Amino acid sequence: MAIRPRKQFGQHWLKSEKALNQIIIAAELKKSDRILEIGPGLGVLTERIFPYVDKLLAVEIDRDLCKKLVFKYGKIDNFLLIEGDFLDLNLTDMLTNFPAFQNYNKVVANIPYNITGPIIEKLLGTISNPRENPLESIVLLIQKEVGYRLVASPNNKVYGALSVKVQYLADCEICCDVLAKEFYPRPKVDSVVVKITPKKIKKPADNPKFLDSLIKLGFASRRKMLKNNLKSIIEPEKLTDLLSQLKINDQARAENLSVSEWIELSNLLKPIIKT
Ligand code: SAH
Repeated sequence: MAIRPRKQFGQHWLKSEKALNQIIIAAELKKSDRILEIGPGLGVLTERIFPYVDKLLAVEIDRDLCKKLVFKYGKIDNFLLIEGDFLDLNLTDMLTNFPAFQNYNKVVANIPYNITGPIIEKLLGTISNPRENPLESIVLLIQKEVGYRLVASPNNKVYGALSVKVQYLADCEICCDVLAKEFYPRPKVDSVVVKITPKKIKKPADNPKFLDSLIKLGFASRRKMLKNNLKSIIEPEKLTDLLSQLKINDQARAENLSVSEWIELSNLLKPIIKT
């Protein structure tokens, strides 16, 4: 049975041997690894993972693909496939009967690009609610533009709320480029392999929930200065004082603040505002 790629599930099969190898190299697979793959598709990446690791758990939303995957790999004992929407599933609950597949330590996947943000959030957690047992690493093939936002530094055009939120929780690096022509069907955009490595947060914000909402508010309108974006919670003159304590120019925009400056600003602001 030939399977036509379904647009609604973001299906683009990776056909480049080189790109597949680069993903595997980035994941630095070890015999003891327990891997989660989101969206195995026809299994091109899957079959390059299970021979080298302890366990591979895959979650695929497309029923027809699941049938195909079971047919191809159903007898492999370190492979378990779950049919469902990764964003909705509670894998911990579902895996009570398969304890060996619980507690995966790494994620390796070519994911559907339309849900990249929610997938990363589910894997990392958020600033106010980080994942309890952080993963060792997350290697993903994603849209190039999003990849560059993940690794962007302050003052860069693409540095935004996503950059700050993810970099608070993890180190990110771009491993390599993957061109649109390396997929079938060709996506409209080029891609990159990124490696996201959750880290121990050295100086967490005093009030992570507040930091989360501060970042959102600060980046709400990129072209506006921070003092305008934050007007609803603090008078511009007061903010100027706080910014000068942090040696930040009072004309600064959200994109000029580093992750640690966001943390410091949130620590100074929270005690003096009424919410
Ligand atoms: N890994 C394969 C397929 C990538 S395309 C390859 O590299 O060729 C993305 C895959 O994610 C598709 O198989 C699609 O069906 C699956 N998918 C889409 N949304 C999903 C979701 N919410 N949960 C799990 N899988 C999903």
